[in-house]
Amino acid sequence: MSIANNLHTIQSSLPAHVTLVAVSKTKPVSDLMQAYEAGQRIFGENKIQEMTDKQEVMPKDINWHMIGHVQTNKVKYMAPYVNLIHGVDSFKLLKEINKQAAKNNRIIDCLLQIHIAEEETKFGLDYSELDEILSIIKNDTQSLQNICIKGFMGMATFTEDQNQIEKEFLHLKSIFDANKTLITTNFKLETLSMGMSGDYELAISCGSTMVRIGSSIFGTRN
Ligand SMILES: *Cc1c(COP(=O)(O)O)cnc(C)c1O
Repeated sequence: MSIANNLHTIQSSLPAHVTLVAVSKTKPVSDLMQAYEAGQRIFGENKIQEMTDKQEVMPKDINWHMIGHVQTNKVKYMAPYVNLIHGVDSFKLLKEINKQAAKNNRIIDCLLQIHIAEEETKFGLDYSELDEILSIIKNDTQSLQNICIKGFMGMATFTEDQNQIEKEFLHLKSIFDANKTLITTNFKLETLSMGMSGDYELAISCGSTMVRIGSSIFGTRN
């Protein structure tokens, strides 16, 4: 199967309200260009340096999503062009994104990454950290004018147990729904980013509106 074929198969299986992020980390520009020529315009990368290198040489109508863990000191490299940052997991990071967005005269869209997996290792905000950020957003509409929180992102436990994965996705969906009524100038939940190659169908059935798919499009990574 070619990249274009894989892409079309997945794209045609997705409901209209679900957005596909083609996760192209570790893959060469020539592979990304095959997806581009097949119509894909949203690419997800997990390293800022790699994403920036690709962004510089690829067509300018691509939307670049940062899906990986973000180090505060590297935000400045993607601030001029990044379209959505999925992995925002601290207020410190949010403040830095806001600062760099302001320098570039932009508003950068962000998703808060919520910790839903059993594993300790996965990044993400726990309940109290989320509440802390939400209360700042509610009470201070002045200081974060260059970011907009558009939704939540989560990753399920790496397991074969479908019930476990489903439980975690539904959990995130319930947190998403519980916060939908909060709407401010820089907070409006529209996007629920959950689901990868192995679990995106389950994620969609649990309410995902954005899936991040890599290996099913580009093949396995080394
Ligand atoms: C690599 C990655 C994906 C895609 O994983 P596949 O299993 O290849 O589809 C999705 N989300 C994040 C955060 C990733 O790092």
